[in-house]
Amino acid sequence: MRVCVPRESGPGEHRVALTPEMVRKLAAAGFEIVVERGAGVLAGFPDDAFEDAGAQLAHRGEHLGGVEGVVRVGRPPDEEVAALEAGTVLVGFLQPLTDADGIARLEERGVVAFAMESIPRITRAQSMDALSSQATVAGYKGALLAADRSPKLFPMLMTAAGTIAPARVLVLGAGVAGLQAIATARRLGAVVSAFDVRPAVAEQVESLGASFLDLGVRGEETEGGYARELTPEQQEAQQRALDERIPDFDVVITTAAVPGRPAPKLIPASAVDAMRPGSVIVDLAADTGGNCELTSPGHETAHAGVTIVGLTNVPSLMPQDASRLYARNVVALLEHLAPGGELTLDFSDEITSGACVAGRPKEAAA
Ligand code: NAD
Repeated sequence: MRVCVPRESGPGEHRVALTPEMVRKLAAAGFEIVVERGAGVLAGFPDDAFEDAGAQLAHRGEHLGGVEGVVRVGRPPDEEVAALEAGTVLVGFLQPLTDADGIARLEERGVVAFAMESIPRITRAQSMDALSSQATVAGYKGALLAADRSPKLFPMLMTAAGTIAPARVLVLGAGVAGLQAIATARRLGAVVSAFDVRPAVAEQVESLGASFLDLGVRGEETEGGYARELTPEQQEAQQRALDERIPDFDVVITTAAVPGRPAPKLIPASAVDAMRPGSVIVDLAADTGGNCELTSPGHETAHAGVTIVGLTNVPSLMPQDASRLYARNVVALLEHLAPGGELTLDFSDEITSGACVAGRPKEAAA
């Protein structure tokens, strides 16, 4: 199977879908890999390293010639979709729940598209779980951003000049990103509390040395382990409870999400108003609108002395290791779809069928 790695074109996207290490692995497994020149440069992987690992380098415009597969991080631009032959396999974060037009374009073109977001979260597919790998990076970076923007030290310091109290950090949403943010903030010495609507996570929060904040709101969990959206009454109760508790914290890191829905609004403007000057909110849900009413996605803003970090695509701020992890997820999926480098799509398989968001053969239609 001949597979191309294009240079990403999304704004601020510094990651790349394969690393030289993974190219070497795929080449040994029978794949032929073409890398668009410059594809890995922003992630710290120069063209030479890909060539040494066995990839062919191609200039833009020539990179898609004769390929049976394209692996990328973000959605393909229109001109790339137009250049793909019918039957080409495409792998990436294709946003199937929020980009219906993009998926329709792939379907029209006959591209067989696999969305990393749609890989079922079953044990057998854990090595392909790119939502988790990238959320891990986001959670880590979110805690570092918070520590960097805060005018307070995170650890307690006992010095000859007296004692500095540790920073108090609140993490809202204790899924993959939230748990990593908790662990990172704890390593930096902060005193951490966390809340999630799925009560099952309380134990995980506590095992990381943080305390679970009881806001008196309990949501439901879907079969896939995701949260269900709260009812308007529950949302209001959550906002009221947070309004009261948030001023106790120096830093709030939010990661709350419900798949395919805009981020739940947890922090109303009134809660920001109640925070002390110098407090910091890092809103890791900014990509889907943000958990704070005052978040401006893509920007860092200040409101009455409170810094609100609404940067989007946070995993791309750590492009080298984010790409390393993502590339391993992509390789695990490719080896599943094309064992030994031979494309053999089996739509009776739960992973292949679950991840396919366009171009499914009619006889395999669900
Ligand atoms: P996510 O990114 O969809 O959401 C992040 C967190 O926000 C979740 O924990 C969710 O409960 C929480 N949330 C939603 N609405 C909220 C609200 N109003 N207030 C506070 N918190 C709110 O979730 P995720 O990080 O991708 O993980 C979801 C679950 O899936 C976790 O339990 C995780 O352990 C599980 N998971 C399972 C597997 C597997 O079995 N292979 C792999 C990865 C993750």
